[in-house]
Amino acid sequence: MHFKYEMKPSLGEISPFYYFIFRKNHLLVDLKKDEAVIPFLSDIAEIKLDLIQKRYFGLLDNHPCYFGDVSPDTEPPKGMTFLGLRSLYGTLEEELLWIAGRAFQLMNWDRKNQFCGRCGSRTKVNPEERAKICPNCRLLNFPRISPAIIVGVINQNTKQILLANGTRFPSSLYSVLAGFVEPGENLEECVRREIKEEVGLEVENIVYFGSQSWPFPDSLMCGFLADYTRGKISVDKAEIKDANWFTKDNLPPIPSKISIARKIIDWFVANN
Ligand SMILES: [Zn+2]
Repeated sequence: MHFKYEMKPSLGEISPFYYFIFRKNHLLVDLKKDEAVIPFLSDIAEIKLDLIQKRYFGLLDNHPCYFGDVSPDTEPPKGMTFLGLRSLYGTLEEELLWIAGRAFQLMNWDRKNQFCGRCGSRTKVNPEERAKICPNCRLLNFPRISPAIIVGVINQNTKQILLANGTRFPSSLYSVLAGFVEPGENLEECVRREIKEEVGLEVENIVYFGSQSWPFPDSLMCGFLADYTRGKISVDKAEIKDANWFTKDNLPPIPSKISIARKIIDWFVANN
């Protein structure tokens, strides 16, 4: 499966097309037993939906991909359903899930930038690049991506990883720490600040782990590992209900395999 991100169809349109259609933040799929299927149609008229917008965003194995959205009170076509992206993990092929995530970010950005933030005029799609432009004051708006760090803090002496139960998590779930990058901050500074603010600890040996687009709604998660050096756990109650050290043999409930958080925890388990 090969996806090519582009602005305009370069090969002409070769039917059928993939349609990533959203109602609020739920994606339209055809649920067949344990498998979710993205509408793959020669003509959107086949499913009789009133689209608010429809835009091209790339080619998947030479078939054009469009994203679009419908009003919140729209009923799904017969036999189909609207489902949240995260709940589709495991039923929608993983590569399609990330393409759907990309479609969602673009659709959401388009939806939130109908008007210029400087002068209030109605914006237009800039045909030259993935941007919206104000015809009055020429302000350009690009899709927003919000960088965030996510970090596995490891105590090398005790072979333990720091995991926290955040105030916005399901009650029993523990994960590694994460936070948004502030203006003017580099990623390593953000790692140090977040750990200090959220649990009161200091770290060294901050190393890059990997990254992941996280379209809920527009994050880019930058993953790191760091070694604990000093401090006692003292949690910021606004963000964290509990934080503690865990060995690989006594892990609490942890996030699903969709997330980079889980990849960091799995790495810790495999290497300690
Ligand atoms: Zn303007």
